[in-house]
Amino acid sequence: MTAPAAAAAYQELAAAVRGDLIMPADPGYDQTRAVYNAMIDKHPAAVVRCRDTADVITCVRFARAHGVQIAVRGGGHNAAGLGVWDDALVIDLSLMRSITVSPGDRTVRADAGCTWGDVDHATAAFGLATPSGLIASTGVADLTLGGGIGYLSRRFGLTVYNLLAADVVLADGTFGTARADCHGDLFWALRGGGGNFGVVTSFTFACHDIGEHGTIIGGPVFYDFAGTAGVMAWYRELLPSLPEELSGWFGLGAISSGPPGCAYPLSTQDVPAADYPKIRAQFAGSRWPDLRIAGTAYVDLAMQLSTARYTDGYQTVWFYQRLSAACAKHRR
Ligand SMILES: Cc1cc2nc3c(=O)[nH]c(=O)nc-3n(C[C@H](O)[C@H](O)[C@H](O)COP(=O)(O)OP(=O)(O)OC[C@H]3O[C@@H](n4cnc5c(N)ncnc54)[C@H](O)[C@@H]3O)c2cc1C
Repeated sequence: MTAPAAAAAYQELAAAVRGDLIMPADPGYDQTRAVYNAMIDKHPAAVVRCRDTADVITCVRFARAHGVQIAVRGGGHNAAGLGVWDDALVIDLSLMRSITVSPGDRTVRADAGCTWGDVDHATAAFGLATPSGLIASTGVADLTLGGGIGYLSRRFGLTVYNLLAADVVLADGTFGTARADCHGDLFWALRGGGGNFGVVTSFTFACHDIGEHGTIIGGPVFYDFAGTAGVMAWYRELLPSLPEELSGWFGLGAISSGPPGCAYPLSTQDVPAADYPKIRAQFAGSRWPDLRIAGTAYVDLAMQLSTARYTDGYQTVWFYQRLSAACAKHRR
């Protein structure tokens, strides 16, 4: 339960931070509390749109001093809407989006308000990438803290395996950098422990070579919904026998342009266009006959899916929500 902080205390907080403090009576409050999942309707006590780590430290110390609950908003993409919370002080990191790529040592340092689209864009210019998610609008912060799996994970591991360091504001308002050789316990906990161990303000990742053009080839394959169990069993057997450059994922659902079915966007890396026929031939006669192989830049792959399908304001029914409420909202 959050103790309400006095209005005067929030005024002091507003004066102490570089970013904006937005309260329920302020214009822009509804816009600021909105997250990716339009089903989420939380009313925080205040939102601070932090400009830098100093703002984050100030917010954490304020929350401690006044007994206010904190919610941390990284990319705001969590389907359960955990980046905002009723009566909480939201530490909104969405303005903290600077990125530094170090091509020499193949690393990228990204502020915790970045989306994966931001990071892929920055690293692709150097022919590099770190394993991220399937779509570009997901936040770097909690995807990483939760593990992180995407197109490159089969070859280069989970996002969290590629995390080299994290700058963290701890619950007592102190700051530290966690790495394997420094605050090792914290570093271990952050890699999968979610937002429970402090507010991460930036992440440093190892990058991998995705080739000069960063080309991905692949595409969706559709199957009849009725055959789902058989296709999934076949897929589970098949994938381990294929090279790690190739990855896939499985979706069940209705698609607007065709019958209900299961789809596999399939990807591999930096294959010259001249080799596409060879790859097509590999799948000829298999249960991937209609694979629409096309080349696309890795940096565009996740962006295309974000733009086409998973736009902000998409409504995701979360397990604790009643379906009837979801339907009512959807009909509006
Ligand atoms: C359409 C869709 C596609 C997805 N695709 C993938 C995918 O391909 N691969 C995958 O692995 N996951 C995927 N996810 C899951 C995604 O990783 C999680 O939803 C994750 O929570 C999003 O991170 P975020 O920073 O945007 O979260 P937010 O909504 O900002 O925050 C969620 C939680 O994380 C904590 N948090 C956020 N930032 C910080 C921080 N800087 N420090 C400490 N705690 C913090 C908060 O406390 C909050 O509780 C997908 C989700 C959706 C909705």
